[in-house]
Amino acid sequence: MRMSNLLVPTLREVPSEAEIVSHQLMLRGAFIRRMAAGIYSYLPLGLKSLKKVEQIIREEMNAAGAQELLMPALLPAEVYQASGRWEVFGPSMFKLKDRGDRDFCLGPTHEELFTQTVINEVRSYKEYPLTLYQIQTKYRDEARPRFGLMRGREFIMKDAYSFDRDEKGLDESYRKMYDAYCRIFTRLGLDFTVVDADSGAMGGSGSQEFMVKSPVGEDGIAYCDACGYAANYEKAPCVPTAKTYPEGDLTMEKVETPDVHTIEELVGFFGCENHMFAKTIIYKADDKYIAAMVRGDRDINEVKLKNLVGCTDDLELAEPHMVRELTNAQVGFAGPVGLSIPVYADLEVAEMKNFIIGANDTGYHYKNTNINRDFTPDVVADIRVVTDGDVCPKCGKEIKTAQGIEVGHIFKLGTKYSEALGLTYQDDNGSDNIVIMGCYGIGVTRCISAAIEQNHDENGMILPVSIAPFEAAVVPVNVKDETQKALAEEIYTELKKRGIDVLIDDRDERAGVKFKDMDLIGIPARIVVGKKAADGVVEYKKRTDEKASDMTVAEAVDALCAYIIENR
Ligand code: ATP
Ligand code: MG
Repeated sequence: MRMSNLLVPTLREVPSEAEIVSHQLMLRGAFIRRMAAGIYSYLPLGLKSLKKVEQIIREEMNAAGAQELLMPALLPAEVYQASGRWEVFGPSMFKLKDRGDRDFCLGPTHEELFTQTVINEVRSYKEYPLTLYQIQTKYRDEARPRFGLMRGREFIMKDAYSFDRDEKGLDESYRKMYDAYCRIFTRLGLDFTVVDADSGAMGGSGSQEFMVKSPVGEDGIAYCDACGYAANYEKAPCVPTAKTYPEGDLTMEKVETPDVHTIEELVGFFGCENHMFAKTIIYKADDKYIAAMVRGDRDINEVKLKNLVGCTDDLELAEPHMVRELTNAQVGFAGPVGLSIPVYADLEVAEMKNFIIGANDTGYHYKNTNINRDFTPDVVADIRVVTDGDVCPKCGKEIKTAQGIEVGHIFKLGTKYSEALGLTYQDDNGSDNIVIMGCYGIGVTRCISAAIEQNHDENGMILPVSIAPFEAAVVPVNVKDETQKALAEEIYTELKKRGIDVLIDDRDERAGVKFKDMDLIGIPARIVVGKKAADGVVEYKKRTDEKASDMTVAEAVDALCAYIIENR
């Protein structure tokens, strides 16, 4: 491809709309342009990278025995109503009506459609195991679309669904997808971690996420370097840690604490460490209210709590007027003593002695409180967020935490959708059985963001060979110099002949401009044809090299081809 024919309107300035590096570089490198919040168009370079990512995914999915098909994005409401998700998705589903006033949505994910397809098309149980997938545009009206392709409202996902006769079959299909995902993310050049994920109220061990560690990731990962354990924050079990408390069975005492609301203020007021306090938070769980308690130095894990409570909607902090009604106090003074709603206490709270809690009276706290003497929680369970320094639940060593970008998610669904929609099969004995399903997603467009987050420097992207828009570039320094031009063309033709996806920067631009653009768009290797062209000498430089090296044409071409082929 010739740069002179390519639409690559690179930007010198960092666009103010972009907060993170990958977003900035994709705009500056003319990969994408914003059309509306979370909605982007792909310019030629962006599309080229995208197609390479898709192709890698396709190859590995096919190799794992999955079959590709393509579903519509514009979907009739009925099948989502049947599964109950027409309501569950809430405002994040784009809903619309046709001219006949019939309800439609833009597909946020396709479990229902694939299940329906299998109901309609599979004739015999002998066709299971079956794994179907598509690479397709998804629509989610995200509350906070941001970071470019990282969290879009329109984005491309690879979604796959497996159908098996029994749990054993599902385990096997799941394992195949796990292996395929490891190959895919390795080929995409991503440094990833597989973490145990929350599988919601359905429970079970059947969900893992593929995370790319990055400070801009919106998920938390807890991991252990000693044994390799890794889990999403939402799921990571917490081992209680011991603290020391005042000895003896001290008498509970009400203390006036005017203008003291937060744990920091309490620490200042009482002059003791924050583990001496238990905080009590009032939540709205669907249409009822609950209280949750954790130690003052801990945070509540709302996902664990939600699963424990078994509510449908996400937990919400109770409205201030409800806190006042339920605790008879202003926000900041809630405590478990005398509370009429269910109290969920963290495992560590059960180990506290003579500690401080809110008194359900504005401006007052209790000190020297003891559990099962002064109050009894309804449920004691692990409801806190894991933190650095926690104990690994597997090996007992130290847990570390990091932020992660979720690039893929595999999930043992079980019978959730097959039961809701009626996907059964008849076995040889004539009895009906429910088909067991799994689902497997990859954020195709998000993968490009993640790859750039992990691979860049101050000059631009350093894309892995496998997904760079071009594998290599030939740059004649001065296209008006006939010798340089002719030699550059010769090298370009030779590289194409050797199967390299190569770009020639044949623009009549200053060399500095061309180098800046090649660095910005992350071309993995380049050959620069300059003044020494007359002697058959060129410069070869990998994107990761500090400096270019002088080589003969043959040497440069060989070095470049070897590097590209090795890293494809
Ligand atoms: P998240 O927690 O980031 O919102 P999710 O768990 O809701 O994602 P899934 O339903 O598991 O997403 O979708 C499969 C994959 O699709 C995710 O692992 C992620 O890589 C990608 N993905 C999900 N939402 C978006 C989005 N808004 N923009 C880009 N990619 C997304
Ligand atoms: Mg997910």
